[in-house]
Amino acid sequence: MKKSPLKVIVTITLIVVALLVLLVVLVNRDSESFGREFDEAPSTEGQPIYGDSDAPVTIVEFGDYKCPGCKAWDETIFPQLEADYIDNGDVQFSYVNILFHGEESRLASLAAEAVYVQNPDAYWDFHHALFDDQPENQQATWVTNDKIEEIADGVEGIDTEALMEDIEEALAEDVENNPLMDELVIDDNLRNQYEVESTPTIMVNNVKIEDDDTFDYEVIQAAIDEALGE
Ligand code: CA
Repeated sequence: MKKSPLKVIVTITLIVVALLVLLVVLVNRDSESFGREFDEAPSTEGQPIYGDSDAPVTIVEFGDYKCPGCKAWDETIFPQLEADYIDNGDVQFSYVNILFHGEESRLASLAAEAVYVQNPDAYWDFHHALFDDQPENQQATWVTNDKIEEIADGVEGIDTEALMEDIEEALAEDVENNPLMDELVIDDNLRNQYEVESTPTIMVNNVKIEDDDTFDYEVIQAAIDEALGE
């Protein structure tokens, strides 16, 4: 029995449509499952790096020492990343300062930048100690010079006196060019470039993880595994 030309055309059309749908699904699955893709990963030049600086995947946290979510992320997600990906050399981790909470964000960030310049080896202990000291009362003022001094005194490898002088110098009203302030400008330019609107924002290489998934370790893992080509 001969097939009618109409039936052949309908069949071919259905097959083509089905293939197109499949193609769209496959393409979208590859590019949109974890978040927005940028052309390139944030530059970590001059930024603190934790882990192997040759690691194939770079995770950048855009954070704020005054942000309660950042404390929670540092205490829940970071340790898992460290154990699963940073310690084995798959991931290098970096942190960019976001100043969404005013003067206290600025003071804490300046202190961290100053510690990094003074002794990069002391930076990450100081970084985690800042989050550790963030009080539960989110409204309370807690980032003060006294608090910075106290935290710095508790971290090995920091010259607290020199640190406080560096901070004072950076915040002096008549200062025009200050290298620590320059670091905050570099970080703010990254915030702008990657359109960071909330903290913490996490980037895995060039992919900005969806805000809803920032605390979903399985999603972050999947994004890392894809970046590793696994
Ligand atoms: Ca920085």
